[in-house]
Amino acid sequence: RSSAEKFEFQAEVSRLMDILINSLYSNKDIFLRELISNASDALDKIRFLSLTDKEVLGEGDNSKLDILIKLDKENKVLSIRDRGIGMTKEDLIKNLGTIAKSGTSAFVEKMQTGGDLNLIGQFGVGFYSVYLVADYVEVISKHNDDKQYIWESKADGAFAVSEDIWHEPLGRGTEIRLHLREEAGEYLQEDKLKELVKKYSEFINFPIHLWASKEVDVEVPADEDESAEEEETSDSSSSEEEESAEEDTEKKPKTKKVKETTYEWEVLNDVKAIWLRSPKEVTDEEYTKFYHTLAKDFSDEKPLAWSHFTAEGDVEFKAVLFVPPKAPHDLYESYYNTQKSNLKLYVRRVFISDEFDELLPKYLSFLKGLVDSDTLPLNVSREMLQQHGSLKTIKKKLIRKALDMIRRIADEDPDESDEKAKTDTEKADENDEKKGQYAKFWNEFGKSIKLGIIEDAANRNRLAKLLRFESTKSGGKLASLEQYISRMKPGQKDIFYITGPNKEQLEKSPFLERLTKKGYEVIFFTDPVDEYLMQYLMDYEDKKFQNVSKEGLKLGKESKFKDLKESYKELTNWWKDVLTSENVDSVKISNRLDNTPCVVVTSKYGWSANMERIMQSQTL
Ligand code: ADP
Ligand code: MG
Repeated sequence: RSSAEKFEFQAEVSRLMDILINSLYSNKDIFLRELISNASDALDKIRFLSLTDKEVLGEGDNSKLDILIKLDKENKVLSIRDRGIGMTKEDLIKNLGTIAKSGTSAFVEKMQTGGDLNLIGQFGVGFYSVYLVADYVEVISKHNDDKQYIWESKADGAFAVSEDIWHEPLGRGTEIRLHLREEAGEYLQEDKLKELVKKYSEFINFPIHLWASKEVDVEVPADEDESAEEEETSDSSSSEEEESAEEDTEKKPKTKKVKETTYEWEVLNDVKAIWLRSPKEVTDEEYTKFYHTLAKDFSDEKPLAWSHFTAEGDVEFKAVLFVPPKAPHDLYESYYNTQKSNLKLYVRRVFISDEFDELLPKYLSFLKGLVDSDTLPLNVSREMLQQHGSLKTIKKKLIRKALDMIRRIADEDPDESDEKAKTDTEKADENDEKKGQYAKFWNEFGKSIKLGIIEDAANRNRLAKLLRFESTKSGGKLASLEQYISRMKPGQKDIFYITGPNKEQLEKSPFLERLTKKGYEVIFFTDPVDEYLMQYLMDYEDKKFQNVSKEGLKLGKESKFKDLKESYKELTNWWKDVLTSENVDSVKISNRLDNTPCVVVTSKYGWSANMERIMQSQTL
């Protein structure tokens, strides 16, 4: 098109498109759910705007919030249209080509190291998946604030944008036209599209229609020559039938039945808000599918857990929370700089926002889910809503439910308590599925629990119950504080731990000698965050935590030891003088050693040697 303005794709985007175009990835289906997901997002946006300004929706068909899929077999074009918010010219240029998102390069990197293309939506670049099946794509879009524009690209490093004077006016919204590649012919089959919508987009909250063909029987005149007068043949078939029927009442009707193809919009999903249904009626499979759509996580794995509940009282709401099977690629990357909750907030079934940080604390931002409240007002701005007093109550309940849900993963995991697995033979199958789930959770999200202990004083104890670690007695498995306490020796008052860069190194530590010999269990903390964690986790169930490399280690009976200390006082004093008081605080007789003659210990309130190491390398 001669009037078009040409643009180059941002470099990373261009690389991404090259990868997609040349991909041998077999599951090309994913493009459809990405387009439907974008259409649904765009519809959510316009519906939200319409809450405070009804005018934005317009009239007639324009006000219908739906998604329309059409096939043009002849020209091999598949089009997906929505009546969502649409894109201005500037939006088209920025969103579809010139501005790379943070996920773009992350995704490119993943792809180069054999990552799963299926996860494209999670990286915020789902749109480009159209180039798995198309070699030429047009995006026609009409935003209320601009004229209708068309974006087009053959994925050759450039795209063009021009005012659209060629297509029918959309009114509002976006139509994506995919000129399918030769080998992508299957996407011109209605059955294939129906199957895909069912599989991936069942839980989209707007009706998805397909312009579907239907074979119908129609009666046509049996014999051309004897049929009614010429002028009637150009009429529509129904009126023709009526008239001929009237005329022919006395004669035998000279008609025959033939098959004819007609088209009509067929609804492919039944827009069910899963969270409004009773949890008893929703199957595991439905929850899993709902999770996929909600989280844009289409990996084959099930979520590790979910919780679906209704809160009553002053603030009423329904919620569904999920623990994803895997942590997203950037969960801890910018933990302290970004606020991003992954909960979608609805008010009376209307999507409001997925950027409400007021719903969950940062350490739980790995959870996915949805909250729908009838108590919150509908017709106020996001900013006003953010200030609403009910949010505090909602947050409190959500945290409680989230921690319960995580606890349940452990409770139901036979690996967590060996006896349960042995006695409960009936539930063997179920146990099989739950086996090892908590370890999996811990590997993915354990750090979040630790950050929670640091940040959330009100729930510290609840979170401490979720803590897992390896220890001198855990035999390579994960242990809990509960287990530690149950294994404590008679007379043992404190919970012992040691920190360091890794387990192997800690196992050789002289600090452990005597303790392990005497049968005390010592926890290994090897994550840099553990040093911070232990500054906040002072005690658990009335037991203090004692770093065995620090001053103050007590092992049960002390009286004999006091005498010993007393008799060596001269030696220790002399020693301290020799080392000078700048270098050491004190020199003491120790009961923590066995083979090693002496160790350097950190004072009670000082940084441990491990912390010094961490501070030097600043690894957190
Ligand atoms: P994401 O959906 O994760 O933001 P995509 O690559 O799928 O990433 O889409 C990029 C952006 O293009 C969207 O954020 C949105 O701004 C815009 N966009 C895509 N499809 C549509 C659409 N149908 N209507 C309006 N905007 C759209
Ligand atoms: Mg998308």
